[in-house]
Amino acid sequence: MPDSSDKRLLILGGTAEAAALAERAVARFGRRLAVTTSLAGRIAPKRAPAGEVRIGGFGGAAGLARYLRQAAIDVVIDATHPFAATMSAHAVAACEEANVARLALVRPPWQPRPGDDWRRVADMAAAARALPRLGRRAFLTTGPGSAKAFAGVAGVWFLVRVLEAPRLPLPLARCAVVVGRPPFTVEDERRLLAEHRIEVLVTKDSGGEATAAKLAAARLSGVPVLMVSRPSPPPGALAATVEEALDWLARRL
Ligand code: NAP
Repeated sequence: MPDSSDKRLLILGGTAEAAALAERAVARFGRRLAVTTSLAGRIAPKRAPAGEVRIGGFGGAAGLARYLRQAAIDVVIDATHPFAATMSAHAVAACEEANVARLALVRPPWQPRPGDDWRRVADMAAAARALPRLGRRAFLTTGPGSAKAFAGVAGVWFLVRVLEAPRLPLPLARCAVVVGRPPFTVEDERRLLAEHRIEVLVTKDSGGEATAAKLAAARLSGVPVLMVSRPSPPPGALAATVEEALDWLARRL
């Protein structure tokens, strides 16, 4: 158990960066820092993050503020996915209320390369509106929760990639499901596009390496990409890499 003099870090996790941060913070700061990672608990992690782990929602911003006080957290690093905007907003409000320092670790968005054919849209609803003009066979990589946004799209067949097989049927008239966990290779992604005769790829602008192979595959296969833009990052201190987040942390210990 950590000494009472130790500082306590809460990482809001669910990303590869959060797992890497937990591992490197434990290795770098040792007993000077007690590290706890919080996971939403919807998907089982490939392996447990280093340090302590807590699982499940906090019960909104007020619940998180209560947790921060009860667990005597000194610093929070919000390393959730760039599209996990609700959790990030709760972190902003709770840290303000509990007077806890907070950093958001936000991986950079993807940048187009020569040969890419990307159409940026503001959100899923805009992607659904734009989709029928781009193709009749779509590869949907935006998560099973986003399928409902495409439920009203007529004349399009969907290949939906999910991390775990959905318990309920997806709300899409014509679709197939493929279960897969990143990282993916460009070769595998090209094969998938060819096998299912995909005409358009739909993706969030998640950034990062683990799921970038689909973009290279789309470029090489001449498949256009509907790229859903990110919500605004949370206000306040931002780090783009795990290294930057560790340096921020070091200045607070
Ligand atoms: P979200 O919409 O921002 O959050 C919805 C609710 O889930 C939050 O209000 C919170 O419940 C709970 N929650 C989210 N992240 C949590 C965490 N790290 N620890 C404890 N509770 C958490 O989040 P989401 O987009 O559904 O993402 C859920 C998790 O999956 C996040 O940890 C995220 O990093 C990860 N993830 C998301 C995506 C994506 O595309 N959105 C992709 C990969 C991984 P309470 O209000 O009850 O506290």
